[in-house]
Amino acid sequence: MESAQERDTTGMPAWRPDMPNDFIREAIKEDLRAGRFNRVHTRFPPEPNAYLHIGHAKAVWIDYGIALDFGGKFNLRFDDTNPLREEAEFVESIIEDVRWLGADWEDRLFFASDYFEQMYEWAQVLIRKGKAYVCDLSAEELSATRGTPTTPGIESPYRNRSVEENLDLFARMRAGEFPDGARTLRAKIDMASPNMLLRDPVMYRIIHARHHRQGDKWCIYPTYDWAHGLEDSIEGITHSLCSQEYEIHRPLYDWFLDQLGIYHPRQIEFARLNLTYTVLSKRRFIELVNGGYVDGYDDPRLPTLAGLRRRGYTPEAIREFCRRIGIAKTDSMVDIAVLEDCIREDLNRRAPRAMAVQNPLKIVLVNYPEGHIEELDVINNPEDPAAGTRKVPFARELYIEQDDFREEPPPKFYRLAPGREVRLRNAYFIRCEEVVKDAAGNVVELRCTYDPETRGGDAPDGRKVKATLHWVAVPTAVPAELRLYDHLFLKPDPDDVEPGKTYLDNLNPNALQVKHGFVEPGIASAPPGTRYQFERLGYFCMDRDARPGAPVFNRTVTLRDTWARIEKTLQSER
Ligand code: ATP
Ligand code: MG
Repeated sequence: MESAQERDTTGMPAWRPDMPNDFIREAIKEDLRAGRFNRVHTRFPPEPNAYLHIGHAKAVWIDYGIALDFGGKFNLRFDDTNPLREEAEFVESIIEDVRWLGADWEDRLFFASDYFEQMYEWAQVLIRKGKAYVCDLSAEELSATRGTPTTPGIESPYRNRSVEENLDLFARMRAGEFPDGARTLRAKIDMASPNMLLRDPVMYRIIHARHHRQGDKWCIYPTYDWAHGLEDSIEGITHSLCSQEYEIHRPLYDWFLDQLGIYHPRQIEFARLNLTYTVLSKRRFIELVNGGYVDGYDDPRLPTLAGLRRRGYTPEAIREFCRRIGIAKTDSMVDIAVLEDCIREDLNRRAPRAMAVQNPLKIVLVNYPEGHIEELDVINNPEDPAAGTRKVPFARELYIEQDDFREEPPPKFYRLAPGREVRLRNAYFIRCEEVVKDAAGNVVELRCTYDPETRGGDAPDGRKVKATLHWVAVPTAVPAELRLYDHLFLKPDPDDVEPGKTYLDNLNPNALQVKHGFVEPGIASAPPGTRYQFERLGYFCMDRDARPGAPVFNRTVTLRDTWARIEKTLQSER
């Protein structure tokens, strides 16, 4: 089947990427040719125990993208089999995130816990076939008898209970007669298998806990390995796609389905996504949030989808990222710069330009009429003529960036300095005439002249300047909180630590810097989620903490890859 290249209005690829021969699509084509399946049906099966992250986006991209490519179906299924770790809050956030990514499960939103009764009946089938037994070993005894990768395990003394006794005990487990951990139901496979997962794995454990969906109906809960293939089978999934760590689980997935003789989907694994300068682990998100290193699961420093969305990432950029990294079999580390490039490219096309000043320095144009405010016509997005123009107020007093002035400019510093002329973007040429300092010697104000002949930014006499500065007019400037985000970790691999240290020691203390700056008035009350390119500063997105007239902007990404620049400088210094 041909895959179609579809692009949405932003020019970013939609769900059908032109991704011809990745190994999963090849395998599916082969299955269709050989008649093993005559249709394609995938699923995304998150456990509702955390927020989704960019690695899950890759999984969704693969599951949903492949279903679309083959004209098949896609299910969203919660693998909610563990009442101790799961919460309804996570169900909500996951639904929101998958929808935001743009995947459409139509009316097929499922919960594995709704299949508990069927799973229970299938467990009875295995007991009757002599393939499962109730075991009274404790969790400690169980792990002590599992053996090691090189030595076989020891068979449980309960392994050869009669079918009748097993059925009776299993029913009483379900009825709540036994305390947590007192008994398990185990598959009877092979205690000497080189694959430790096949050494009589646990299928059910007793957990007297309230389930977010089933309430107190159950006190025995299925394990992942027992449940997952059954869920896929019930839903008629053809290709059960998952990350690489499930490869060693596949023999067990197949074993359960074969023993039951029920419809048998095919599991195929793909490489897990790892990204530099960050972590993609639920456990670590919990540590970072609970330890106060970040401010919650949607902290824009985290690579959760909620965090990326709040930071200003678009679903289109994330899909483009997934397309670029492709699908491989072996795990690898992807440079976070690839993700940043995707959002830059997307926002360059569609984010309107605006002006903001991060570290304000006041300048006064001494020859500009006092009290006068003029409206300059400014192009919203040079990449997008349809975005039109806007009016930006200009006045005698303006803010520029402190960084754009040096009293004693070093070589190659072409911006403002005493006696020097530069361009104010979309406005006029100005010349610095006088530097005003406070008692401590800090520069607090510049007194400049402007050239009225240069309105719009060009000199009729053809004279050139070497720098163009952004600015905001003081009388109409709106104070804004600017949250500048950077990589969460200082090292590409956060686990690159000296003995005795942990990944937490690699946290970047400057991953968030808060600036109190100013923005032009026209954007101050934009709704949360509105994105801009602030000239020369980067792409920013209005945060949900903003109030009308009191803007708070998150920096999504800088205009260029500053880290690549830093690394280049370091290299040339070495
Ligand atoms: P855990 O098993 O610790 O709860 P998990 O990250 O595997 O965490 P799931 O909710 O089980 O979370 O994941 C749902 C799906 O997302 C699985 O199919 C899994 O293979 C896939 N997935 C999870 N992490 C990644 C990743 N980093 N890259 C690609 N796919 C991933
Ligand atoms: Mg998992």
